[in-house]
Amino acid sequence: RAREQGGGRHSWFDPAMHARVVEQVRLEHDLRRALERGEELWVAYQPIVEMVTGGLAGFEALVRWNHPERGNIPPGVFIPIAESTGLIVTLGAWVLREACRQIADWQEKRLPGSAALFMSVNLSTRQLNDPDVVPLVRDVLRETGAEPSWIKLEITESAVMEKADQAIQLLQSLRGLGIKMSIDDFGTGYSSLSYLHKLPIDSLKVDRSFVMAMHQSEENRAIVRIIMDLARLLGFDVIAEGIETSADANLLRALACDYGQGYHFARPLPAADAEALVGAEHLPWQEPR
Ligand code: C2E
Ligand code: MG
Ligand code: MG
Ligand code: MG
Repeated sequence: RAREQGGGRHSWFDPAMHARVVEQVRLEHDLRRALERGEELWVAYQPIVEMVTGGLAGFEALVRWNHPERGNIPPGVFIPIAESTGLIVTLGAWVLREACRQIADWQEKRLPGSAALFMSVNLSTRQLNDPDVVPLVRDVLRETGAEPSWIKLEITESAVMEKADQAIQLLQSLRGLGIKMSIDDFGTGYSSLSYLHKLPIDSLKVDRSFVMAMHQSEENRAIVRIIMDLARLLGFDVIAEGIETSADANLLRALACDYGQGYHFARPLPAADAEALVGAEHLPWQEPR
């Protein structure tokens, strides 16, 4: 049709865009196959640490895709595709089930550090708008034997604020099941203060961009301090993500940050390595005694 309209070839055929579309369609196809076969996807568990004691508080479940030809494809690439194609519904349910099964397994083994351990699972924007998410969570808890109090769901600030009234209702229903809720990537969206205090949540996760900027200037540290103060005022716990250095950890400890997560403590780990930490007498990131 473009040709008939006499448009120049370049105006309707952009090779770079074409390549991008082909790439997306291919990844979508491959992701669908991966979900059907269940062999390429796995879940990594990144420790979340109690800042004061350095003790293990919980894990965040992070999905990984080991593509047979291309190796590891980062979630930053395939999650948006899963979101836009709706595959996230299947993928999200699969991750939730895996993570619940895993924490139930660790609790059942009564590993030394398992008593108050929690498991955080990311919920996408699409799942937040899906009325079936509450029955899904309820069913997964029942199937896996995971206690609701072990589970925390992370939803991004932008997903919540997009449809705040609807989100508040959903958060309430999820919390009604007894699970905990956390706002992810806090500070990157546009939270309305009038909504923030109404949100039925347990914790705020300070986005790693703020944590990583802390060492640069007093102003950046002040921003993190203000987020902490705000969270405390509203009665939420604070989790800082992206802690890469001991200097960052010390700054956050001085600000009385509750929990921390980042390469300084540990990277996202395969289940067996994560399990070793649950049972460990001494954690690798703690000072040697
Ligand atoms: P997120 O939920 O904010 O997860 C934290 C991300 O920060 C993870 O990236 C983690 O590996 C990374 N990270 C942790 N500590 C550090 C650090 O010290 N330095 C740096 N540079 N990065 C750190 P990952 O695993 O690549 O995931 C990226 C995003 O993809 C996640 O951000 C989340 O939004 C999404 N995602 C991952 N798994 C899932 C999932 O199962 N479901 C959904 N809906 N989204 C997921
Ligand atoms: Mg998260
Ligand atoms: Mg996060
Ligand atoms: Mg983030």
